[in-house]
Amino acid sequence: MTAKIIDGKAIAADLRAEVARQVAKLKADHGITPGLAVVLVGEDPASEVYVRNKNRSTVEAGMKSVEHKLDASTSEEDLLALIAKLNADPEIHGILVQLPLPDHLNEEAVINALDPAKDVDGFHISNVGLLGTGQKSMVPCTPLGCLMMLRAQHGSLSGMNAVVIGRSNIVGKPMFNLLLGDSCTVTVAHSRTKDLPAVCRGADIVVAAVGRPEMVKGDWIKPGATVIDVGINRIPAPEKGEGKSRIVGDCDFESCAQVAGAITPVPGGVGPMTIACLLANTLTACCRANNLPEPEGLTA
Ligand code: NDP
Repeated sequence: MTAKIIDGKAIAADLRAEVARQVAKLKADHGITPGLAVVLVGEDPASEVYVRNKNRSTVEAGMKSVEHKLDASTSEEDLLALIAKLNADPEIHGILVQLPLPDHLNEEAVINALDPAKDVDGFHISNVGLLGTGQKSMVPCTPLGCLMMLRAQHGSLSGMNAVVIGRSNIVGKPMFNLLLGDSCTVTVAHSRTKDLPAVCRGADIVVAAVGRPEMVKGDWIKPGATVIDVGINRIPAPEKGEGKSRIVGDCDFESCAQVAGAITPVPGGVGPMTIACLLANTLTACCRANNLPEPEGLTA
């Protein structure tokens, strides 16, 4: 079998276009422009690239984009003061604090200082609790993107067996809650799981969020299963020249694609969906803040 490639770029482009259409309608009908503030502390090169992409995509969707670049030595007090200001700003509907933060800053304290209604990453403890109890929340962008791709592939996920590999707060745990919310039977695997290949072989859906290059092999996958590869790993690529590298996922694409029914590529799968879902969350937050109906299909 050769798997269908789930084209995250194309699904994300459709989602971004829908967000842009809804933003234009919001402006025309109500004179409201959704606003996203991104806070970057320090000079982590990968974070700078992410922040640039987020800003560009926000502007392309017709939203207001504000970037706050703070020095790596910024005190927690100053960062919390900025967050308080953004929480109070009626033109800002979404706030994203780019992680990781420098070591001297307490990530939990900073994230929990956000107004939960503006927490477009869905990491605030209130949003975590709301999602865990099946209530309306801000849903973390990466697992939301995975869910949208799975729904695009299958329609209903009800009754399917899903294995999520990874139990992080930003991917694995919210993914568990979202799949459970869609009535999957969900197993969450992690570094202590015994016989992970056998656990995966029972799954109709495998979501790999591990951070280990090409760990999941084709013979772990049940024939016809759907594989969502969240991993982003940079590995050496001497074939491209000295010192060159390339990005691979947590799944060994070649062997998994021989067995799976459908699979996301890396790059071009989950990554583009993450940014598209950030835009969708910002629009959702803006509609909620203004007591307007939320456009359908933009959240879980
Ligand atoms: P974390 O490092 O926070 O979590 C990794 C998880 O994988 C942990 O729960 C860990 O288990 C588990 N794990 C590690 N080794 C093994 C193993 N050998 N067998 C089974 N489980 C294992 O990572 P994140 O969740 O933040 O990210 C995961 C991957 O997704 C990374 O590659 C990251 O770059 C990528 N990512 C991609 C995004 C996108 O937009 N596409 C967004 C966010 C992340 P334990 O808890 O026991 O240690």
